[in-house]
Amino acid sequence: MKYSKLNKSSDRGRLIKRLDKMFSQIISLERGSNCEIHGKICDRVGNMHILSKQAHPRLRFVKENIVRCGWFCGHYWSHHNSDDPRAQFVQKRIIEIHGADYKNKLYEIERFLGQHNSLYLQALEIKFRQELEVLNANRIQPHEGREE
Ligand SMILES: [Zn+2]
Repeated sequence: MKYSKLNKSSDRGRLIKRLDKMFSQIISLERGSNCEIHGKICDRVGNMHILSKQAHPRLRFVKENIVRCGWFCGHYWSHHNSDDPRAQFVQKRIIEIHGADYKNKLYEIERFLGQHNSLYLQALEIKFRQELEVLNANRIQPHEGREE
């Protein structure tokens, strides 16, 4: 018997990919293109998850769990060698930006978040789409605008 196989994991994978992209755009529109660790445009600035996506999947789309930083200056050192002074500097900056109890705050948020089932992810996509519309509308000011 033939049946058309619904590859759910792949649909889900694609949805998460779209969400990752939208989430990254939202953070970038909200915070600008600087590396938050060094306060300037570092190489390959992107979103770094403070608590990793692998260990904390529910915090994947939580803004409080995001630091905008360059790949080499932030990501690499903080994930690969926590004793490296550069990693310790990243840690120090995260505390300055998010507070000394940033981990506990994230655990608190995590406790109240639902699992990333497809309904949750679909709702998130609608929410992100709306957020992006608002952010883009605010960014592109019409010429004939007469704001004081
Ligand atoms: Zn940097």
